[in-house]
Amino acid sequence: MNNCIFCRIANGEIPCAKIYEDEYVVAFLDLGQITYGHTLVIPKKHVRNILELDSDTATQVFRVVNNLSKKIVKKLNAKGCNILSNAEEIAGQSVFHFHVHIIPRYDENDGFSYKTRQNKFDLEEIKAKII
Ligand code: 5GP
Ligand code: ZN
Repeated sequence: MNNCIFCRIANGEIPCAKIYEDEYVVAFLDLGQITYGHTLVIPKKHVRNILELDSDTATQVFRVVNNLSKKIVKKLNAKGCNILSNAEEIAGQSVFHFHVHIIPRYDENDGFSYKTRQNKFDLEEIKAKII
């Protein structure tokens, strides 16, 4: 897609701090670093988000997410990481080309938070709807 910023990054039309590339996948540092080393992993092929992702592309991307998470945590001396992918505006997606965020974690005040919980839902009812 011509007007997609991540297609243009994948094509090399827009510069990025690239940390990995193969036939199907590119990984580069997010311009807006949530924490030190915040990385995006994208397929070269244009896919809107995980809701439209085919399983071959998922395999290619998540293999890289798996390998790079280990490398980033080790090389940057992080204590762990969060893996995140936003799908659609309601979930905070702002670039509509599938991407997985690797967010290295250093301590509780390093800029990322994932803590809210609601205990008001009936798990059996939800399970019956999904399966
Ligand atoms: P989303 O909000 O869709 O989950 O994530 C999009 C991410 O892309 C944001 O974290 C934003 O900082 C990053 N981003 C947007 N434009 C560019 C760009 O041109 N280059 C890089 N490296 N990151 C970008
Ligand atoms: Zn695209």
